[in-house]
Amino acid sequence: MSFAVLCLGTNVGDKLANIKAMRDELQKISKIPLICSPVYESAAVDVKIAQENYFNQTILIETDETPEELLKITQNIEKKLGRKSKNDKSPRTADIDILLFDEIIKKTPALTIPHPRLFFRKFAIEGVKSLNTNLLNPFTGEKFANYRVSKEILRQKIKIIE
Ligand code: ADP
Ligand code: MG
Repeated sequence: MSFAVLCLGTNVGDKLANIKAMRDELQKISKIPLICSPVYESAAVDVKIAQENYFNQTILIETDETPEELLKITQNIEKKLGRKSKNDKSPRTADIDILLFDEIIKKTPALTIPHPRLFFRKFAIEGVKSLNTNLLNPFTGEKFANYRVSKEILRQKIKIIE
């Protein structure tokens, strides 16, 4: 049994409904009721043309799957919920990123864990901190509750939606 922290994202259509649909699908594979951060709104970054703001939520699940199996499952959920684009920065109905998986460190072409953007996006790191998980930062062995977010990251604007 493993713990995984996932980041849900959407910037198309009814964004709260999309987040809920992702949660409902992930609840089906989680051994525990999902533990959820607030839903945060933030501006799209690294995009070529203006896009709608993103809604993001971080959730903790417990799973029997391996990281690779979990990635397949999350990609199928993205497709089921109508995600069309792949591997680009265009708007998306459903994006599910694996931020943490137990305390593993892994870098293969298909999967990097911890997720490379975890420490650079305020909604992701604040989301993980809010979960109050016992998972440790695999790079330092420290609790996320004690993780000090840098001033630069703190400057990013995020708004709590619910
Ligand atoms: P984004 O990086 O903006 O979330 P995509 O969702 O299109 O973009 O993901 C691109 C690729 O990232 C996927 O095909 C997947 O193999 C790879 N990837 C690498 N590490 C991870 C991870 N930790 N979680 C999810 N996808 C990952
Ligand atoms: Mg993704």
